[in-house]
Amino acid sequence: MAHNKGKALIIGAGIAGVSSAYYLLQKGWQVEILEQNDLSNNCSYGNAGMIVPSHFTPLAAPGVVAQGIRWMFDSKSPFYVKPSLNSNLISWGLKFLKHSNQNHVNRSASAIRDLNLASSILYNEIAEKEEFNFELTQNGILMLYKTQKVAEEETELAHKAISLGLSVDILDQKGIQELEPNTRMDVIGGINYKCDGHMNPMKLMKQMISYLKNNGVVFHTHHKVTGFETSGSMIKAVIANGKKFTADHFVMTGGSFLPELAQKAGIKIQLMPGKGYSFMHTPENPSNTLNHAALLLEARVAVTPMNGQIRFGGTMELASHHDKINMKRVEGIVRSIPNYLPDFQMHPKQESEIWFGYRPCAPDGLPYLGQSSQLKNLIIAGGGGMMGLSLGPIFGKTVSELANDQKPTVEIKIFDPERFS
Ligand SMILES: Cc1cc2nc3c(=O)[nH]c(=O)nc-3n(C[C@H](O)[C@H](O)[C@H](O)COP(=O)(O)OP(=O)(O)OC[C@H]3O[C@@H](n4cnc5c(N)ncnc54)[C@H](O)[C@@H]3O)c2cc1C
Repeated sequence: MAHNKGKALIIGAGIAGVSSAYYLLQKGWQVEILEQNDLSNNCSYGNAGMIVPSHFTPLAAPGVVAQGIRWMFDSKSPFYVKPSLNSNLISWGLKFLKHSNQNHVNRSASAIRDLNLASSILYNEIAEKEEFNFELTQNGILMLYKTQKVAEEETELAHKAISLGLSVDILDQKGIQELEPNTRMDVIGGINYKCDGHMNPMKLMKQMISYLKNNGVVFHTHHKVTGFETSGSMIKAVIANGKKFTADHFVMTGGSFLPELAQKAGIKIQLMPGKGYSFMHTPENPSNTLNHAALLLEARVAVTPMNGQIRFGGTMELASHHDKINMKRVEGIVRSIPNYLPDFQMHPKQESEIWFGYRPCAPDGLPYLGQSSQLKNLIIAGGGGMMGLSLGPIFGKTVSELANDQKPTVEIKIFDPERFS
C-alpha cells in the first residue's frame, strides 16, 4: 500500500491498537506499533468475543452500586471491589457513584448504541476479506434468566432497546429452547438481541496482526513506552527501551494501563482494571451444541460457542493489577453453569486452564475516544470496558478519520478522552 500521509505511531497492540493500524493503513499512513509485551496475549484475546449493540447501558447505572455492595460479601460472587485506600480507586469510585443515575444512562444510551452498531457493520466488512475467518456469527445474543425479578427488569430493558431501534425478541422458555434445540435450557425465558453477534477473538487478533505485518506495519514488541518528548502542543517523540520513536501522529491505546501511559504525556485519564476470567469447555456429549452466544443473567456469566467448544467467562474484580487467579470466583462461574444448562456437567477447573484479562473501565462506563486538546497530534482510543472488543473497528475507523482531519462517522463528543482532566 502507498504511504502518502506520513507516519503514525500506535502505542499498544490490543484490539484498539490493531484496529487503528488497520484503518490508518487503508488511508495511506505508514504505521508502527509499540507493544510492551509480545503479541500472544492481552485483554483482547481470551474475552467472550461478543459484539454488543445490546450493551447501551453504561456500567455506571442505577442499582449497580447496591447490587455491588451485596456481592462484595460473597467470595464466589461475580462482582468485587477490593476495599482500599488507593487514591485512584477512591477518586474512580466517587465518579462512578456520581454517574450511577438514570440521567446519565439516558444521555449515553444512543451514543453507545451508535458506536456499537457502526462497529458491528465494520466487523462484517473485515470478515469479507479473504485474509480473515474469525467465526463471525451475527445471529444475536440470548439474555437468559431464571427469576421473575430479572425477567421483569430485562423485559423493561428490551422495550427500551426496541425504542432505540434495536432488533429484539422477548421469548418464553419454549421460544428460547426452539433457538437452541440441541441443549436443554433451564430458564424461564430470555431476550434475543438479534442486533448482536459473536466471534473468536484469538483468531481475529492473530489474523489482524498477520494482515498488518503483510501490509507493511512494523511491530516493536517488548517496547514499553516510558516517556514523551513534546514541544509546545505537539509530541515530537515517544521513548521506549531508551530509544526515541518519532512520527507525525501518535495514537495512545494501552487498555487498562492507559492512565499510567497518559500521565507520562501529562494527561489525566481515569480507569480501573476490571479483572475477568474465562475458560474453554468441551461438552461431554458432542451433540450438545449451542447456536448463539448467551449471558446467564443472575450469575453474570458469558457463554460463547467458539471453535467447536464453548467459552465461559465472567466476574468483575475492581482492584489494582495483580496476576493472581482467584479460584473461588472461578468456582462461582463453574457452579452456576448447570443451573441454566443442565446438559453441561462441569468439573472443577485447574488454575492452568484459566485465562484472565483486565477490562479498561472508566468511572462513567463510557469509552475514551478522540483527539487530545492538550497535544494536537495525539489521538486516544481506550476505556472500552465490557465492550472493548465490540468497539474495536469503530475505534480504529474514528482514529483514522481524526488523523485525516475528517469528521468522524459517529458522534464522539461524549467520549472526550480528557473529560476528567
Ligand atoms: C472475561 C472478559 C470477557 C470479555 N468479553 C467481552 C466481550 O464479549 N465483548 C467485548 O466487546 N468485550 C469484552 N471484554 C472486554 C474487552 O476484552 C476489552 O475491553 C478489550 O480487549 C480492550 O482492548 P484494548 O485494546 O483497549 O486493550 P488491551 O487488549 O488490553 O491491549 C492494550 C495493549 O497495550 C499495551 N500497553 C499498555 N501500556 C503500554 C506501554 N506503556 N507501552 C507499550 N504497550 C503498552 C498492553 O501490553 C496491551 O497489549 C471482556 C473482557 C474480559 C476480561
